Amino acid sequence: MRKKPRNIPYDHDWQRLSKRFLRVHPMCMVRGCGRQAKHVDHIVTVRAAPHLRLAWSNLQALCRQHHSRLTHAYDRGRLCGACDVDGLPLDPAHPWAQLTQQEAIAAVNCKAPLDPYYAANLKRGWVRGEER
Ligand SMILES: [Zn+2]
Repeated sequence: MRKKPRNIPYDHDWQRLSKRFLRVHPMCMVRGCGRQAKHVDHIVTVRAAPHLRLAWSNLQALCRQHHSRLTHAYDRGRLCGACDVDGLPLDPAHPWAQLTQQEAIAAVNCKAPLDPYYAANLKRGWVRGEER
């Protein structure tokens, strides 16, 4: 029987690094959260930037709730439910962000993926409580 292939992005090096990161950052880094951090999040996803998989500067410690919420909102190739303080969507490809009706219609019918670095910058800003 063949052995199941290892999950490369979450190998031994990752386990060691994430444990060390949580020792240095024991609390969720979302401003005002105050819960214990249980997860280490890749700000730019491993899929988008495999070379940043073990980069300390690409990591943030999060509680389970915020990790789940941020992954859903920012890491799936579209911004889902991520909005500014006025409730307007952050996704520049969202139909509401288009200048003309024709562009809005085109945006509705387009399934272009979001730039993962743009999403990562928004996610990082959200965690740090930066102005949106
Ligand atoms: Zn949190």
